[in-house]
Amino acid sequence: MERALNEKCAVVGVFNVKGAAQIAYFGLFALQHRGQEAAGICSNKDGKFHLIKDRGLVTRVFSEKKIKKLKGDMAIGHTRYSTAGDDSILDAQPVYARYDLGEIAIVHNGNLTNAKEVRDQLIKRGAIFQTFMDTENMIHLIAKSEKERLLDRITDALHKVEGAYSFVIQSRNKMYAVRDRFGFRPLSLARLGDGYMVASETCAFDLVGAEFIRDIQPGEMVIFEKGKAPRSIQVFEPNPHKCIFEYIYFARPDSVVYGKNVYSLRKKMGQELAKELPVEADMVVPVPDSGVAAALGYSQESGIPFELGIMRNHYVGRTFIEPTQELRNLKVKMKLSPIREVIEGKKLIVIDDSIVRGTTSKQIVSMLKEAGAAEVHMRISSPPTTDPCYYGVDTPEKEKLISARMTTEEICDYIGADSLAYISIDGLMRAVGDDKNYCKACFDGNYVV
Ligand code: SF4
Repeated sequence: MERALNEKCAVVGVFNVKGAAQIAYFGLFALQHRGQEAAGICSNKDGKFHLIKDRGLVTRVFSEKKIKKLKGDMAIGHTRYSTAGDDSILDAQPVYARYDLGEIAIVHNGNLTNAKEVRDQLIKRGAIFQTFMDTENMIHLIAKSEKERLLDRITDALHKVEGAYSFVIQSRNKMYAVRDRFGFRPLSLARLGDGYMVASETCAFDLVGAEFIRDIQPGEMVIFEKGKAPRSIQVFEPNPHKCIFEYIYFARPDSVVYGKNVYSLRKKMGQELAKELPVEADMVVPVPDSGVAAALGYSQESGIPFELGIMRNHYVGRTFIEPTQELRNLKVKMKLSPIREVIEGKKLIVIDDSIVRGTTSKQIVSMLKEAGAAEVHMRISSPPTTDPCYYGVDTPEKEKLISARMTTEEICDYIGADSLAYISIDGLMRAVGDDKNYCKACFDGNYVV
């Protein structure tokens, strides 16, 4: 049982902090949920770069000895989730290169929507690519720019790429943090001693004691230079389309994303679900861990008791042994197990954050019924996922999204639940409680780029 939706990456940057690589390491550790397949840090001591990256979790890639090799008071880091077929070490980040202005390294959270077109043009002009990553386009565009100063070259390159990006770029003596004009992926700024830190989520700051300052704004670039306060340039007119799925599922509940705490918003989604979609039952049960906060909200709003009727095994890694047809539920049972004593004979409201392919929900319902649940009513804290994401989240193609193929009633039959209902887009927006500046393309197919 793997996550059906995966955030592709997390980025950190540390500037003017002694032992910057160690801080970057802890930042990546806090952001491990955003990418588990590869990790890397590139540090900078007096203009000389030190790079370590490899496949695996942050704790596997780095040891104390390796961190000590990453000298300097500047570092950028990355954790990666890669889609099938391109998980080689070459595609781990930071992406590093030497060019006419010296050394450069870059980390990227997001997905460039015109990557193939730009890559093809660069190849025609003689560029030799070393990876399959869209991020490498930026390195080539910077290296080939006619401009003199690196800042102008980066700006030049940014005008040639489209789509979703939170980039952190490290040069000989500066660090640049930039977010696309739509602000699809989060990127925040904090103070740490005399220096600064940027990260995909604020939970990275909390771990190292950095003090959150603000979000980097859509279309904004912040430039860090020794002896100077960070300088901000608005590279593009902002057109905010912040990913609403960060609130539903991706971000850690203790993070503050786009100015709001994720845990509190998930609870509000649960409250809205209870108002919109009430059902008589004995208890509210979350699918752990991401359904917990919404289930608490549902329980508080409805007055129906909250129970941890499903436990999660946190120590399951990937398994390459596919269960046989007879053991088809083994995959989900390795990760989730019902507490029979709690649920036997009971009518359950089961809260999950999303249904993507439908196979996991089907297994969960079947597992709960086998354990004696009298009724299973599924309530989902996101609207039906009908369209894929092209902005840095790994989703299956449209044909594989169950909500693109079936009605809610058909899905309910397929997963074997007694009832199934999703929060409405309006209910979700009431829970989030502010402007309309969110991307909701995976629910309504309205792609801004
Ligand atoms: S399409 Fe969905 S997952 Fe992708 S950025 Fe938009 S809201 Fe987020």
